[in-house]
Amino acid sequence: MVVAEGTDLVSAELKPAILADVRAWVVSQVEQLREVAQAVSARLGHGQEIRSTCPVDDWTFTPRYTDGVCPLCGYQPPGVDAGNGWPGPIDWFWPILGTLVVASLAMAVLVIVAYNRL
Ligand SMILES: [Zn+2]
Repeated sequence: MVVAEGTDLVSAELKPAILADVRAWVVSQVEQLREVAQAVSARLGHGQEIRSTCPVDDWTFTPRYTDGVCPLCGYQPPGVDAGNGWPGPIDWFWPILGTLVVASLAMAVLVIVAYNRL
């Protein structure tokens, strides 16, 4: 079997650039995953529970689970960061609708292309 020289679709000069782009993309994805993992890990706290006792009703609570305030009277203990909560709930309607539209258009294009080729 004879293999012809120079039949590569991608020239030799382009290959390192493409590989560098792919590598940069993979590295960026890994960095994002690492940041998410660190955020979740920091959020879970690993047992570092901060407990406060309300001076009004003598109730001991964990501000992390009560938006930083006493669940009975709303007393906010000093030095507690109440703004470190979970992000708000995600509204998935538009992302899912967009995905549905894009998938539908892609399927329509594929069907039209396949129909015209047969
Ligand atoms: Zn209280």
